[in-house]
Amino acid sequence: MSLTNFTIPEVEKLVTSPGEPGYRADQLLGWVYKRLVVSYDEMTDLPLAFRQKLSGQISLHTLRPVREAVSLDGTVKLLFCLRDGKTVEAALMLYAAGEGRTRTTVCLSTQVGCAIGCHFCATGKQGFERNLTPGEMVDQVLYFARRVKDKKEGTESRLGHITNIVFMGMGEPLANYEALIQAIQTLTSPRGYGTSARNITISTAGMVPQIRRLSGEGLKVGLAVSLHAPDNALRNRLVPLNKRHPIEELLPACREFTQKTGRRVSFEYILFAGINDSLAQAKALAGLLRGLNCHVNLIPANRTGDAAYRPPLRGVILAFERELGENGVACTVRVSRGQDINAGCGQLRSQFLFER
Ligand code: SAH
Ligand code: SF4
Repeated sequence: MSLTNFTIPEVEKLVTSPGEPGYRADQLLGWVYKRLVVSYDEMTDLPLAFRQKLSGQISLHTLRPVREAVSLDGTVKLLFCLRDGKTVEAALMLYAAGEGRTRTTVCLSTQVGCAIGCHFCATGKQGFERNLTPGEMVDQVLYFARRVKDKKEGTESRLGHITNIVFMGMGEPLANYEALIQAIQTLTSPRGYGTSARNITISTAGMVPQIRRLSGEGLKVGLAVSLHAPDNALRNRLVPLNKRHPIEELLPACREFTQKTGRRVSFEYILFAGINDSLAQAKALAGLLRGLNCHVNLIPANRTGDAAYRPPLRGVILAFERELGENGVACTVRVSRGQDINAGCGQLRSQFLFER
């Protein structure tokens, strides 16, 4: 059992039942989520017997860092080993003023591998192994929160805490729905890490029933949908899930999300040279998204070793962006982070598995 796997009300019950005073839960939660300690020994205002009892039953760790890479742009990529020996990745990205708002973002994983199997994606090629627990998700954030608090990384965007959380690492978050929601509740609770839900984004390959369910949760989280193609024929090839939930089902679910939550959806569109980067495709994409409260993020493809999926030349990317803009779609070209350290989804783990 690990502490971060319990919901906040469960921690409360756990701690108060053996006749401890009510504020014990607050003390314990404060040590774990605010002061970010890594052992019970540091919880100096808790009685020793109480700490000993807890430490015999409940661990404070679900992850062990096994490999790390730091990019020239300050991005820190971590490979974590889970209790069962499986590995997942997470990344820390530091954005200084001038790159939008100053922020410190954690990109975290929700599954070991992924069952959706997009051909361009390093994680998709690894296959699916298992879902992460809520604690394993929360612990990825806490790990980086400690490093940022200790000022171990340094750029001018150093804020001392994590401001943004994106579920864009390994796996399909909406395929691990219950655990995802529990992790978000812990991360946003004022007695947990206390991040604003507005600063959390869930990225999905387009699981329509779960998008609809998420719309009704009353959470103010952001939704990013990995679209990557303006028509079903191409999207079936790139994102196999499209065969189950085609574009004409996906877009109405996105519309419902914006209507119910008041938040605009962002669409991720990776640009692959010669595959989805023509001006005709930009126009078709604009036609598809007309009237939808949305924003498109254009992402030059990360090279994953598959020669079929390469980023277009700069000029092609800018022309695509211009065409979308002229057709009334708000869009930006995303500056890729951590290119020099294989920080793209699943890349560090692929390298690690290959070497072993
Ligand atoms: N499964 C979810 C979230 C994890 S993938 C999803 O697909 O949205 C997070 C993002 O990384 C997705 O937008 C995905 O399409 C993108 N991605 C995967 N492989 C990539 C590559 N080679 N280059 C650029 N982006 C990639
Ligand atoms: Fe899974 Fe997302 Fe990678 Fe597709 S892009 S294989 S959905 S992690």
